Amino acid sequence: MQYEYNLRVHPKIAADSSELRSYLSREKGLRPDEIRAVLIRRRSIDARSRQVMVNLTVQVFVNEPAPEPRLVWAEYRDVSAAPQVVVVGAGPGGLFAALRLIELGYKPVVLERGKDVASRKLDIAEISRRQVVDSESNYSFGEGGAGAYSDGKLFTRSKKKGDVDRILGIFVQHGANPSILVDAHPHIGTDKLPGVIKAMRERILSCGGEVHFQTRVDALILRQQRVCGVQVADGAQFMGPVILATGHSARDVYRFLSQQGVNLQAKGIAVGVRLEHPQALIDQMQYHSPEGRGRYLPAAEYNFVTQVRGRGVYSFCMCPGGFVVPAATGPEQVVVNGMSPSNRGGRWANSGMVVEIRPEDLPEACQREGVFAMMRFQEQMERDAYVNGGRCQKAPAQRMTDFVHKRLSADLPSSSYVPGLLSAPLHFLLPQGVGDRLADGFTAFGRWSKAFLTREACLIGVETRTSSPIRIVRDAESLQALDIAGLYPCGEGAGYAGGIVSAAIDGERCAEACVAAFKN
Ligand SMILES: Cc1cc2nc3c(=O)[nH]c(=O)nc-3n(C[C@H](O)[C@H](O)[C@H](O)COP(=O)(O)OP(=O)(O)OC[C@H]3O[C@@H](n4cnc5c(N)ncnc54)[C@H](O)[C@@H]3O)c2cc1C
Repeated sequence: MQYEYNLRVHPKIAADSSELRSYLSREKGLRPDEIRAVLIRRRSIDARSRQVMVNLTVQVFVNEPAPEPRLVWAEYRDVSAAPQVVVVGAGPGGLFAALRLIELGYKPVVLERGKDVASRKLDIAEISRRQVVDSESNYSFGEGGAGAYSDGKLFTRSKKKGDVDRILGIFVQHGANPSILVDAHPHIGTDKLPGVIKAMRERILSCGGEVHFQTRVDALILRQQRVCGVQVADGAQFMGPVILATGHSARDVYRFLSQQGVNLQAKGIAVGVRLEHPQALIDQMQYHSPEGRGRYLPAAEYNFVTQVRGRGVYSFCMCPGGFVVPAATGPEQVVVNGMSPSNRGGRWANSGMVVEIRPEDLPEACQREGVFAMMRFQEQMERDAYVNGGRCQKAPAQRMTDFVHKRLSADLPSSSYVPGLLSAPLHFLLPQGVGDRLADGFTAFGRWSKAFLTREACLIGVETRTSSPIRIVRDAESLQALDIAGLYPCGEGAGYAGGIVSAAIDGERCAEACVAAFKN
């Protein structure tokens, strides 16, 4: 016999399987010796009231065994002799496009400008150690894309539950913890992601696909209005239809696309800072207890959003127990981002705190720079942060209360940001329309949660790479670039996704569209 229950239980019961069994036998009248298995199907934390509770959906097997867990979500076949598709970029968009092509019987040839996920780690360590950024191997470029040394949060606003479950399933099939299938806010962690990405690459290779590292695409090969391949930095050519999944930081790609006549549009972005608090303070605030999270609750999260003078001000990519990282992709830039390990055990909590900016907010820049206006705006902020951070990877920073009261911080709290912080007047340095809205937003957040607006928290500048500043316009049905056949702009860099899961879903869609065009 099987039963499904929606439970609302104390965190200790949710955390301990024998406690959960005792609870079920007590509350549901089940005999303990007859409960063969309890599977958690959904898990979320309800921290709205003083006593924090955990909501669980459980499936209980009484006098019958639980079925084997589902481990295979996609069937892959040998495609070594199949027609080939060029996939540019090995981020989530490109990797999921490649895997889907294999499922559908086509051979992916993946071209990635950066290094494999393990070698890349050494270059990332160098950013903090030597304060220099390798413009081909960094937090955004290399196998796994921006998704590799990221937080690995797999939460998405996508309403297409079937698609999301499939992506999560494929992550599990390649080694991710199956708990991501049940958690309301699934998370892999930066320590586990590289293993999953390596398993995906091995899958592509074992099925007869190709993966070429340190192979930067510099141009499309165009015949009339059709893309029939790409040219890479050493002059070699790779032929086939092209899925272009190069992410939002490949500014050189936008430049060559524009020169080659691909239709681009400036797009709204959100920019601001990383805000870092002690995690213990966020735990106390969110779990309404001076003791913090105790033994059974995870590091607490938060989510703030408001409108200030017609523009959204909100927290973005919150990383409980995480660290702030130097995410620049080139010289003379300071860009910060955040991530956390799977146990979210770090001393700090951080999130992007950003303000929405639309092309119409920058009319002169749009007139001057056309489609590149928003990208130039990002570049200028990153360059200003570099100059004000001491012309290295140190980041300009300010205590949260000093920022709101428009005064320079005499000292800064300790931080997870390894390259180091330099006190700077961010209230003055951030562009108009960003700094003032952020300050008003923080004041509003502080009214809702008193502990949030504190001198213990620190703003670290600047967070600019929240989404793509440019859209590569594509046909809504064929997913090919407008008026150019054979080119499938894909994922975050194309402006059609934001985050790991939505980039992965878009990668699959582009692969399907490409295969459909082959068949026509
Ligand atoms: C530190 C950090 C933490 C993040 N945390 C999260 C998170 O927790 N959850 C979440 O959902 N999202 C997170 N993100 C965002 C997420 O990583 C991106 O949304 C996602 O990776 C986008 O996928 P993509 O495949 O479209 O592009 P990308 O991941 O950017 O991949 C693009 C790939 O293309 C390659 N490339 C670029 N140009 C070329 C070229 N000319 N030739 C060949 N290859 C090229 C790049 O090297 C890169 O590997 C984080 C990002 C960062 C930087």
